[in-house]
Amino acid sequence: MKEEIRCIKCNRKLCEADYKFISIKCPRCYELNVSTKRVPRGLNYGDRRKK
Ligand SMILES: [Zn+2]
Repeated sequence: MKEEIRCIKCNRKLCEADYKFISIKCPRCYELNVSTKRVPRGLNYGDRRKK
């Protein structure tokens, strides 16, 4: 599913992407935006550790 990536500094729309990790520099203010998509609840495979 695509999501909008917006600059954290000037809120300019940078791109739409289906991503897990993205690193993109804003062309307006040159802020480097780094975003990591979190795994949705229910799909978290690390959740069943304890018995
Ligand atoms: Zn910006």
